[in-house]
Amino acid sequence: MKVRVLGCSGSIAKNCRTTSFLVDGCLLVDAGTGVGDLTLQEMQGITDVLLTHSHLDHVAALPLMLDSIGGLLDAPVRVHALPETIAALRAHLFNNVLWPDFSRIPTVQAPFLSFHPVAVGQVLDIRGKQVEVMPAVHSVPACGYAISAGGAAWVFTGDTERNPAFWKRLNCMAVGALVIETAFSSREKDLARRSLHLSPEVLAEELDQIETAKRFPVYITHTKPAETDLILVEVRQFDHDAPHGKGGVHDIRWLSAGQVMVV
Ligand SMILES: [Zn+2]
Ligand SMILES: [Zn+2]
Repeated sequence: MKVRVLGCSGSIAKNCRTTSFLVDGCLLVDAGTGVGDLTLQEMQGITDVLLTHSHLDHVAALPLMLDSIGGLLDAPVRVHALPETIAALRAHLFNNVLWPDFSRIPTVQAPFLSFHPVAVGQVLDIRGKQVEVMPAVHSVPACGYAISAGGAAWVFTGDTERNPAFWKRLNCMAVGALVIETAFSSREKDLARRSLHLSPEVLAEELDQIETAKRFPVYITHTKPAETDLILVEVRQFDHDAPHGKGGVHDIRWLSAGQVMVV
């Protein structure tokens, strides 16, 4: 399974694109501004979109992408998300004010997109891949995803704060790679807590929830552009100071747009 990083930043700036990952060319995980780097042909290859939550940095490119490829589609793009996320998109985005309601356009029978509600714990079969909906703890209803093609899973936390249920489930899985958010530096840990994001200080405690026998790379995502350098220093610090931290050695790596993870 190949996971192409389209965007892994917490916000925008030159060379910073917001959350989106493309799995095997057909499955888009979140639709942040990174989607804008895809060619028309690559966008046409997307049959399914998994959304973690309704925040703009994760959905901003969805209406624009559908506008670009809508007329070229043979079938609606299937958008999978929690019911609350779908309700938010219907009410606030595809509401014929901010953007046309592409779930009814060009016709109700053959629209550009169709919505498919998911629930935490559910396992979907999408294009031969197993997609498990993982729990997340965020300021709006949110989830993560664990995706596998029969082998170890690529696991994405989505936006989250401390998340005991996530670790409980992850410790029962074969994990090939974990992508975990760290939106703020520890200097901004109060803001991180209030907005239900992680900072390096809390990330260290969260990673300690991984059972010691587990070994897989941990990729940091969703760093705010203005905080990225400091987050990097703080993560290296705790990784260096406690290489055998309570939960074991962590193989921490950095994501960059354009990178391809093979899981
Ligand atoms: Zn969010
Ligand atoms: Zn976000």
